[in-house]
Amino acid sequence: MKEQTYDRESLVRAAFEAQKHSYSPYSNFEVGAALLTADGRVYSGSNIENASFPAGICAERTALFTAVHEGVRDFTAIAVVGKHKEAGQFDYCAPCGICRQAMTEFCDPETFEILLARSPEDIKVYRLCELLPLWFTSKDMEIR
Ligand SMILES: [Zn+2]
Repeated sequence: MKEQTYDRESLVRAAFEAQKHSYSPYSNFEVGAALLTADGRVYSGSNIENASFPAGICAERTALFTAVHEGVRDFTAIAVVGKHKEAGQFDYCAPCGICRQAMTEFCDPETFEILLARSPEDIKVYRLCELLPLWFTSKDMEIR
């Protein structure tokens, strides 16, 4: 596996900035994500809720789909932060199952890193394959 050489703390800081843009009047749970591309760009996203709940979208997919829309297909890592609006501090906030699955479409589960942070200095690092074992991809749909 190739060594990751990016600045994790900077990516987490970008996620905290993104979290400030959350639109979450129903859950009051504000999430921010910062997605690092293989060529060093960062796409951020926040969760965007809707009165029709299923119409909302998570921060991770906001960032991922924005990048994919712009033609990016190669990613290194994503930082995710989240907390209830009234909580005094952040706790580790893992991506939901749908977001983990969405990541497998464009991110190598064996190398793509997911950073969960309570602060820029307090980061847990996982690979996507650890958070989504037995992931489903287009290869699973091939005729055998
Ligand atoms: Zn999600």
